[in-house]
Parts: sequence; C-alpha cells; structure tokens
Amino acid sequence: MQTTLVIIKPNGVQGGIIGEIIARYEKARLSIAALRIRNITREEADGFYAEHRGKGFFTELVDFMTSGPVVLLALRGEKAVEAVRQMNGATNPKNAQPGTIRFDFAPSMGENVVHSSDSPESAAREVAYWFKDSELVNYPAASHLL
Ligand code: UDP
Ligand code: MG
Repeated sequence: MQTTLVIIKPNGVQGGIIGEIIARYEKARLSIAALRIRNITREEADGFYAEHRGKGFFTELVDFMTSGPVVLLALRGEKAVEAVRQMNGATNPKNAQPGTIRFDFAPSMGENVVHSSDSPESAAREVAYWFKDSELVNYPAASHLL
C-alpha cells in the first residue's frame, strides 16, 4: 500500500472539476487519506517545489500555484504513486494520453490542473509536507458501490 500526494491546482478548483477529478481517483479504488482546500503561501509553494528552484518556469509555477485555492489530497492504494501519475497524464498535456486528467482538462503545461508525486520517496516527503500523520485516515477503498 502506498500513499501519494495530489494537488488540484487553482484552475481545477476554479473550473469546477474538483468532484470530477476526485471521482476518477475513487473509481480507481484509491481511498482518501487526507483532503483540504486552502490557499498556499509563496513560501509553501517554494519549499514544495524546491527541486525546481532556479529553472526558467519556477517563478511562473509559484505565481500560478498561489493564484487561488488548491485542493491538497493524500491518496492511498496499491501502487498509488504510479497509478495516479498514469491517471494524471504527461506533464505537457499535448503529450498526455486520451482519458487522462491532463488530456481532458489541461490547457497548457504551466496550467496542467493536477500535481502528483513522482516516486515513493517524493510521496513520503510531499504527504508529510502538507499533512501531519495524525491527520491521515484509513478506510477500505470502494469496491462494491461502483
Ligand atoms: N512546468 C512548466 N514548464 C516546464 C516544466 C514544468 O511550467 O517546462 C510546470 C508544470 O506545471 C509541472 C510543474 O512545473 O506540473 C512541475 O514540473 P515537473 O517536471 O515536476 O512535472 P510533473 O511532475 O508535475 O508532471
Ligand atoms: Mg513533479
């Protein structure tokens, strides 16, 4: 079992597709270990994306991630890290496979609607970055309802 970190970016929130995105993860038998909607600060965005500091798109990325509320989501399931990366699709939506969230909704690479952790190591860091252990819950993911 893995827990991975997803962020629904400001354009996903303002586009009214929070429910649609979360429904896709639930249908993939992932459970929601934690869920919160809020604004993040520039300092938080900077620390979260530390690996990208100094790159050409960094300031634009921080600007975008702080342009409105985001949904912070910890998802749990078998191979959750890779499963969610697949469901989200390629970073550049032009390269994303049909049926992925980015293919369906993302207008551009800079505004690609969702973040997800890229490895189990990143997932551990990123879940802990936004949530305390005591905020994570456990329940069996849906199997008979859908
Ligand atoms: N990004 C961008 N231009 C680039 C590369 C990345 O605007 O050339 C943005 C994009 O929104 C991406 C985020 O920076 O989601 C983090 O980049 P990363 O390579 O980690 O992509 P991801 O893991 O989100 O697919
Ligand atoms: Mg990444």
